[in-house]
This record gives sequence, C-alpha cells and structure tokens, in this order.
Amino acid sequence: MKEARIPGRRASRLFRTENGKVAEKECKRQKRRKKSPAARKSGRKGAAPRGRSIRRLALFAAALATAALAAAMLWRNRADEGDATKDRHVELMTTGYCNCGQCCGWKTDESGRPVYSYGTMSGKPKTVGLTSSGKQARPGTIAADPRRFKTGTRIYVPGYGLGRVEDIGGAIKGDHIDLWFPTHKEALEWGVRRVRVLVLGRGD
Ligand SMILES: [Zn+2]
Repeated sequence: MKEARIPGRRASRLFRTENGKVAEKECKRQKRRKKSPAARKSGRKGAAPRGRSIRRLALFAAALATAALAAAMLWRNRADEGDATKDRHVELMTTGYCNCGQCCGWKTDESGRPVYSYGTMSGKPKTVGLTSSGKQARPGTIAADPRRFKTGTRIYVPGYGLGRVEDIGGAIKGDHIDLWFPTHKEALEWGVRRVRVLVLGRGD
C-alpha cells in the first residue's frame, strides 16, 4: 500500500491509498484486536491480552485503594487538629530558641534600635520577645508551623514540659517545633532533638 500524506490534514492517521481513496491508519489497538481471534486459536497467545488487562485492572484497583487510604489519613489528621478532646502522640523535631537576635532574626540599627535583619520585614523595628500571637515569650512558648499546629495548641514535650503554640518562625516548617528558653545558652543546650510529644489540642 502506497501512502501519500494529505496536505492540510493532521499528520497523524489519514492517508490516500493507491486507488485514490482516503483511508485511516489503524491504530495499534485495532491491529491487536484484529490479530487476536487468530491468535486465540493458536492457544497461549490469545490469553496474553486478557491476562494483561486483568493485571492492569488489579494495578488500577491498588492505586485507587492507596489514594483512598492517603485521603482518609489526611482527612483524619485535619480533623484531629480541630478536635481538642483527642490527644495524640507524634514524633517531632525540636530545637531551642531565645529572644536573641541570632535566634529571632534581628539586629540593632545605627541608632541601637532592634530591627529585623532579613526577610520581608528586614529593617523594620522589632519588639524583642513579642511572639506572633502578641504574647510575650515565656517558658512554655512554642513556635510552630501554623499549617501544622494552630496557635493555642498545647503540646507536652518530655524534657521541656507543657508548652503552647504562640509563635512562628521562618525555618519552622511541618513536623518541627521551636521551644523557647530564657537564655541562648539553654537554647543551645537543648540542641536538636527528635521527641515523641503529646499534642493536647487547643486551650489556654
Ligand atoms: Zn538565642
């Protein structure tokens, strides 16, 4: 069969046969379908497409189940956060911070006033020790990712005590919380610890 592309058509499937008729090229699936009755006669070959389709179906079902499970887990996690009565243990990365410029990203300007040292607030005056919630930082103040733990969430951290989410931090994302200490020395002593904490929901 001599093929001549028809100008103007999509390059894909239409072509002119020797007797001048416009015909459409068979796609792979059509070819396979045509072949299969003969192949079925010969036995084993015919079984192959069916086996493949079953496998594909199983794979699809498995993917669907996985997606459903993931969605269910995500939904449960979301629900947990809003439910103050549901305590839960989670393993988190914890670090320590204090009010110092190094921990909270501020420096003093030429006139000796504290200003943010980087970020979108860079150069703007900074009230040292004031958390994002508007409260003064104190022992028990925890900085967290607001998408992970809302302000007011109480978290019991073994080795630190009962804290409350009242602050945020540029580097505090996801399963990472920052624990406030009165001195930089104590913050450093805490270091970086993976701790199994108890999330107690929101409260004062
Ligand atoms: Zn510090």
